[in-house]
Amino acid sequence: MINQNKESKITLLGAGPGDPDLLTLKGVKALQTADVVLYDALTNEALLEHAPADAIKVYVGKRSGEHSYPQDTINKLMIDYALNYGHVVRLKGGDPFVFGRGYEELDYAASYSIPVSVIPGISSSIGVPGLQQIPVTHRGMSESFWVITGTTTSGEVSNDIYHAAQSNATVVVLMGLKKLSKIVEIFKAAGKGNLPTAVVQNGSAEDEKLVVGIIDTIENLVAQENVKAPALLIFGEVVSLHPSFKTLVKQYAAIS
Ligand code: SAH
Repeated sequence: MINQNKESKITLLGAGPGDPDLLTLKGVKALQTADVVLYDALTNEALLEHAPADAIKVYVGKRSGEHSYPQDTINKLMIDYALNYGHVVRLKGGDPFVFGRGYEELDYAASYSIPVSVIPGISSSIGVPGLQQIPVTHRGMSESFWVITGTTTSGEVSNDIYHAAQSNATVVVLMGLKKLSKIVEIFKAAGKGNLPTAVVQNGSAEDEKLVVGIIDTIENLVAQENVKAPALLIFGEVVSLHPSFKTLVKQYAAIS
């Protein structure tokens, strides 16, 4: 129902990594006052239940094999709905500003003078390793962590991966599963064949899968376990803290 009396506003809301209970309280409150929810592929549809029954819910993500909505279309939809219906909640996977194109939406809304507020979400880049009890930093082991995209706008592996492979940082790669071979090659070239490595498929969701190994073995393990997107890659000594890594080391010691 078009309601001219409502104030137009947009909330960029981070939905967290998948488990609907990982949304913030502030996020729940924002959804409760939504007139429209525009939601992405990596957000859990259970979150829509926080929105009023008569709120308009629009899916703007990508179904497997199909194209995603062009960013331009999403921007325009967001403005249209805000002008005509009032409060638009733009629900995005993880945190809106970690490879989420959140700033583009914020900027676009600002060009129409529509107020935007931001509610951060738990980014998969930190939350998913954490749920596996892999800390991204650990005293005496990892002094920093990098979060890198595996695939840049031009479809190439990010140059930053070459730099990260030279460092002692924990390296978390998003959107990198298809580029795993190339990334593994970069780490090998940096002399890191034994670096503990984990791949997590759909962390915090029902079909979550974890594969733990080292740079030299991870590709085979990922193929064996048939790991699928969305998945993230974790490179670094901190992966050795995971219990299954300790089991691997024991098995290796037993056969060698
Ligand atoms: N803004 C999001 C990231 C968007 S990029 C965030 O902060 O989490 C999308 C990529 O994030 C996916 O290709 C995958 O690499 C990663 N990702 C998102 N959710 C994930 C999950 N539950 N488990 C594993 N990887 C995930």
